[in-house]
Amino acid sequence: METKNEVIINYSQVDKKVEKLVKNVSLYLHDLSLEYIENEIKKAYLFARDAHHGVMRLSWDPYINHPVEATLILLDLKPDIFTIQACILHDVIEDTPRTYEDILQVFWEEVARICAGMEKLSKVRYLWEERTVGSLRKMFVAMSEDIRVIFVKLSDRLHNMKTLKYHPKKEKQERIALETLNIYAPIADRLWLHKFKNMLDEECFKILFPNDYRQIKRELIESDETMTSFQRNARLEIENILKDTGIEYKVDFRVKSIYSIYKKLKRKNLTKVSDLYDLYGIKILVKDVSDCYKTLWLVHSVWTPLPKRFKDYIALPKPNGYQSLHTTVVGLLRKHRQQPTEIQIKTFDMELRSSIWVAAHFEYKEKGSKIAQDIDWVKQLKDLTENLGNNEFMDSLKIDLFKDRIFVLTPRWDNINLPAGSTPIDFAYEIHTDLWNHIVIAKINGQPSPLDKELKNGDIVEIITDKNKKPNPFYISFVKTTKAKNCIRSFLRNEDRELHIERGREILNNLLEKTGMEKLDKDLTVLKTIDDRIYSVDERIDILEQVGNFSTNPTAIVKKIFKSKNLQYKPKNSQKTPLLHTDNQEEKKTQKDIIIGWERGMPYKVWVCCDEKLSDKIVAYINSKGVITIHNRNCKTLNRLSKDRLLSAYYEGEELNNIIFDINFLFENKIGVLKNLSDILFDMNINTLEILSKREGLDKTGLYLKLEIMDHDYLIIDRFLDRVKFKLWTSLLDFEVKKIGS
Ligand code: MN
Repeated sequence: METKNEVIINYSQVDKKVEKLVKNVSLYLHDLSLEYIENEIKKAYLFARDAHHGVMRLSWDPYINHPVEATLILLDLKPDIFTIQACILHDVIEDTPRTYEDILQVFWEEVARICAGMEKLSKVRYLWEERTVGSLRKMFVAMSEDIRVIFVKLSDRLHNMKTLKYHPKKEKQERIALETLNIYAPIADRLWLHKFKNMLDEECFKILFPNDYRQIKRELIESDETMTSFQRNARLEIENILKDTGIEYKVDFRVKSIYSIYKKLKRKNLTKVSDLYDLYGIKILVKDVSDCYKTLWLVHSVWTPLPKRFKDYIALPKPNGYQSLHTTVVGLLRKHRQQPTEIQIKTFDMELRSSIWVAAHFEYKEKGSKIAQDIDWVKQLKDLTENLGNNEFMDSLKIDLFKDRIFVLTPRWDNINLPAGSTPIDFAYEIHTDLWNHIVIAKINGQPSPLDKELKNGDIVEIITDKNKKPNPFYISFVKTTKAKNCIRSFLRNEDRELHIERGREILNNLLEKTGMEKLDKDLTVLKTIDDRIYSVDERIDILEQVGNFSTNPTAIVKKIFKSKNLQYKPKNSQKTPLLHTDNQEEKKTQKDIIIGWERGMPYKVWVCCDEKLSDKIVAYINSKGVITIHNRNCKTLNRLSKDRLLSAYYEGEELNNIIFDINFLFENKIGVLKNLSDILFDMNINTLEILSKREGLDKTGLYLKLEIMDHDYLIIDRFLDRVKFKLWTSLLDFEVKKIGS
């Protein structure tokens, strides 16, 4: 079939695949006629075939075989006709002289757009380096514009993985496999494309660990006979316990993917596949949630569940939304197997959810569809990729890019959904309706824990309250939920009212005394008439509050009192106290940018006591109504203020100095002290220069720490000491703190 100058390519194999494509698509796209489907698919096929003509793959197939195969893979997602065409055309812009405009001439704009998205993604070849990360970013950006691009990309990648063995360079094969394992497989997982994920994993595994792959594959084939009889018998036994219950059910089986078998063998230090007892799992699908629990009860009453292996993902869904009951029982298939068997129980709906989720993306032209809104995470991904450095980005991908929500439990096992990074305080504000402002201690999984400890999935959180305890304004700097922030703010406002009334009373009393008048009595009689107006007792108290929070000038009030009594206002001592100031003195005219509590752009006022001579060592104070005031660190006013309300502050762009602290602790000998201590340091992000421990006599341990902190963060040392005292209180005997350098 060869002539001298031209290779005649035989397309008959690919043509057959296209026929299959048409047939399979017509099975689920009922709205479109077979004729239309055939025309559209063949139009794309011939366009792409023509464009790629003469190019061969490394597998010696004509190039067009690749996009057609990728499209067959894609069909698993039941895509719309545009996505199918785009998948057939996916390498045209990138690899042939044809352009976006050429495609646009023949196909709908949507098709051309998906192709353009694919071209963007493939521009950068797969270097396991910074450039890869750059292309990943593009990928995510493209994704958020049209998620169908990612579906095509995953199908493309899966077919490339299947043919990677033809690549001559082992090193390159491995690089691509690693990239797939670390980036594409997690994305597929998150998109509920578990089949894609498993297939991607398997192809990667084949390339990266060929020997292990072959061994496991062989063992699986050997156990295939067992598998068949297992399924037959398990079906019978389940039929036996469910048949007279009226529960509608369906039994299904789950076979572990080769790669997850491998991972599990490694993790459990096992060598043989047959040692795994969850190689085959049983899935029982039922109608509704109550049937799930009924079935579970029946299963547990016939076979013995393994303690600790029961997981209720219905009451407590996984962060990605997965719901099911998992239990592992012994005694099933007594004759055939000794191993325990995992049984998953879920509703048909739960099982269906994955395909519904994907289908939603093909219907999302219907705006406002509830499920389509779930794609918001893609937007978040986009923001994330734009804000992170490359390394962080890679790390976050590898660990768990998608950990945006966590589920924690109350001691009564109610589950509470919180943003990731939430603390026991957030938890408390989420559940307690009346006592939230009186949190004393949080217990996480039974252990007393600091209130700013980050909660993890599945933590059981208990809040212990005391009605005399008040929230600390410092909480605001670490709580995650708006609800908690607002509650704390409003509490502080109320609490401040008391404080301000007391302060107002004190200020006015001082003034009245100086002018020779009597102090305020219980009913504040002296404030009854001001400017010919009669004030009620409540209004008089309001005046005290205004004086106390510095929103009213007390001198003006006293002058008015004098005036209404027709007296001459003549203070004994005209010296101005720092607390007497007017509103316009409060604000400094030119404000430098100050970073407060690690946050930029917080509004603040320089307090009157420090207004004249604000030095370069400053600190912030959360005042009434959430107003932040700035003071010199050595300002005497600070002595009267609650230490809890101070926040770190420094000038933006200022050279940041460090302070070294030497701290000596004396502990009673106790296991875990050093670990607790280093946990606290780690939690608080304190830089530890040295840590030494020394036995002191028989029953004491001395611990010496050299800590380095930012100059403006000096407050953190007090908080550190508080935590040590709290967390290790049973054994802390003595401590000493020395500050070195400034
Ligand atoms: Mn391709």
